[in-house]
Amino acid sequence: MEPEATIDCIDCGGTCHLITPPPEDGRWEPGDLAVYRCEDCTDRWDMLLPDEDDLRGDHWEPDEA
Ligand SMILES: [Zn+2]
Repeated sequence: MEPEATIDCIDCGGTCHLITPPPEDGRWEPGDLAVYRCEDCTDRWDMLLPDEDDLRGDHWEPDEA
């Protein structure tokens, strides 16, 4: 579970870069805060790492073939 190095800016569509250094032990935990800074509009975006249980729950289904 690691945050993306970059995300798309919600405001301007530019590239936001992760500015939070990784934890000392290199292990990101659910609920950790990852802060991004947009290179175009310099907006700051705070993202919480999702709980892994949320990613494999029953509430979303893979696309049917
Ligand atoms: Zn932006």
